[in-house]
Amino acid sequence: MKVAVIGAGAAGLVSARELIRCGHEITVFEQSERVGGIWVYEAEPEDDLLGLSPSNAVFSSLYDSLRTNLPRDLMAFQDYTFDSSGGGDDYWQRYPHHSKVLEYLENFAKDFDLLRYIKFSETVVSMVSENEAWLVATESGHQDIFDAVMICNGHYSRPRVPHIPGIDKFTGLTIHSHNYRNNDQFAGKRVAVFGAAASGIDIAWEISQVATDVYWSGGIFDFPARTIAGNIYLYPSPLGFSGNTLEFTDGISVEAIDIFVYCTGYEYSFPFLQDDIVSITDNWIYPLYQEMLPPEYASLAFMGVPSLVIPFPLFEMQARWYARVLAGKVKLPSPSLMQALVQSRHDKLVDEGQPVRHFHKLADKQEAYVNQLAEECGDPALPEWFGKLAIEAQHSRQADPENFRDKAMSFHGASVVKYR
Ligand code: FAD
Repeated sequence: MKVAVIGAGAAGLVSARELIRCGHEITVFEQSERVGGIWVYEAEPEDDLLGLSPSNAVFSSLYDSLRTNLPRDLMAFQDYTFDSSGGGDDYWQRYPHHSKVLEYLENFAKDFDLLRYIKFSETVVSMVSENEAWLVATESGHQDIFDAVMICNGHYSRPRVPHIPGIDKFTGLTIHSHNYRNNDQFAGKRVAVFGAAASGIDIAWEISQVATDVYWSGGIFDFPARTIAGNIYLYPSPLGFSGNTLEFTDGISVEAIDIFVYCTGYEYSFPFLQDDIVSITDNWIYPLYQEMLPPEYASLAFMGVPSLVIPFPLFEMQARWYARVLAGKVKLPSPSLMQALVQSRHDKLVDEGQPVRHFHKLADKQEAYVNQLAEECGDPALPEWFGKLAIEAQHSRQADPENFRDKAMSFHGASVVKYR
């Protein structure tokens, strides 16, 4: 089959490799000039620090100091380790700096001879379904017809900025983590950080090194305000601003905030897609069978949609599964059965009381998800160490969000163990 891949980040690269392995003819469209996607660090932030309507849109959301939040043996593609037998170096830190992840992905592209399939500086602007094929067009005027398309455009680039009542009257600085690079402008400031996922944790800690105080809030802090570490104070969610005073849902207020930082995540966005293929409501893409395929358009795959996962191995198995679907080696259910399965998953999530914006979160269900795809491919399940290390790494991060990257762990994966 003739297949287009949109994006040459981790998902696009591994998709390209799996498609080639299955004998498909491929073209990868990449809007930038290099592979790596989010791992290509961009020092200059956007001129709109909330990232809503910048005139100099920046793709990457990395900050200077970022080291991975997963140990590299867990993070790697299953068959391409982060060491000298794969795409890395034996002496890299176990939680490497972001520049090492880029190096690893560049090595992946070279080692699997993918560069010759990639059209760089080609932004896909539309893809139209025509007679069971897709007419894909790029900004430069390039057009071609493909039997199938794998959408690997990433989803950590378009900031989610929830409305905070009264923020329009706040005279301090507002910034989304997408545009946070380092703590330079936070010295001596009173800073509110909203959001307690991976970036929120790192950024709150980094800012606290130089700020006067950090008032850190996120839905997970449901206990009364208290000091946790030096100058960081935990709060529940913000209720609203009154001038530069920020009130929280527990009724406590903090005056004279200088900077408000949104670490509130990102939104899925597919600007090149017709409106009638899927709907996106509160960050939930519907309908997607196996979190990938619209039942009526199974010649289209959305890659890497699940969140709270270990991304690279999940991308790898999704890509392998879909490449085999296209090769006729894995059989799909009928469109109506796929739709029924999507609906029953939806109903189950509703019964469990999950908010819609969490429907794509897999968390402790990710191993079962990846293993089911593996089984349908006739491939082995994830190795035993994988789940054990995933749980250990998660506990380690929760127990010591500041220092977990430098702590020893008892489990390890298929990697040369000379971690620094
Ligand atoms: P991306 O890396 O975003 O790549 C998408 C590619 O598509 C880009 O190259 C882009 O230029 C291209 N593209 C987009 N639109 C178009 C278009 N219209 N036409 C052509 N090309 C297009 N994951 C981990 O495993 N470990 C970590 O420690 C980790 N830390 C993270 C820290 C931060 C701050 C963030 C934001 C994410 C982190 N992640 C981490 C998640 C990370 O995003 C994934 O691991 C992964 O790299 C995503 O790969 P991707 O290919 O899906 O998307």
